[in-house]
Amino acid sequence: IAALGKIPLVLISHKHDDHTGGIDKLVGLTGAVVRSVGSGFLRGLGGPLTDGEVIDAAGLRIKVMATPGHTADSLSFIVDDVRGERSDGKGVVLTADTVLGRGTTVIDNEDGSLQDYLESLRRLQGLGNRMVLPGHGPDLADLSAVTAMYLAHREERLDQVRGALRELGDDASARQVVEHVYTDVDQKLWDAAEKSVQAQLEYLRAI
Ligand SMILES: [Zn+2]
Repeated sequence: IAALGKIPLVLISHKHDDHTGGIDKLVGLTGAVVRSVGSGFLRGLGGPLTDGEVIDAAGLRIKVMATPGHTADSLSFIVDDVRGERSDGKGVVLTADTVLGRGTTVIDNEDGSLQDYLESLRRLQGLGNRMVLPGHGPDLADLSAVTAMYLAHREERLDQVRGALRELGDDASARQVVEHVYTDVDQKLWDAAEKSVQAQLEYLRAI
């Protein structure tokens, strides 16, 4: 912690434990104020974060952007002045698990939504070319390219599910779709795939 210097403020990107589990320890060590969308993670007097809010802290100007989908409370943070160190002056966006950096983002089966997620990716794409600092994995040079890739990947998966429904019937269960689409995938991964397909079915049945 000493190596990090003074920490005045912690912004929570979303509720998952790997992004929130350490906050009380961190607050105990640093006295930092913690802010988030929901009330569960607020520490100190900063209050909840709101979409579009601009925060000046530690010499940075940070704009809060609601990017729900992975979870209902997912946020991204747009930082315009990072002194040009990492982004060639084009600015960065911290995407947490919305653009994961490595592998595919999972839609939380409690309060995530594929429809919200696709809209959030399009909103991020609308920011133009920025560097991405994702929640897991290396920095990514080009937000436009990454969001285009993520959107294409989702469309491809949705096409597979649409194709399965044409053969199995519109009332097919998530499990039936998995057994139809994921024939070449290890059955150990089918439970995880079923959650993902469930989110896709909810999306397709709502539109
Ligand atoms: Zn997460």
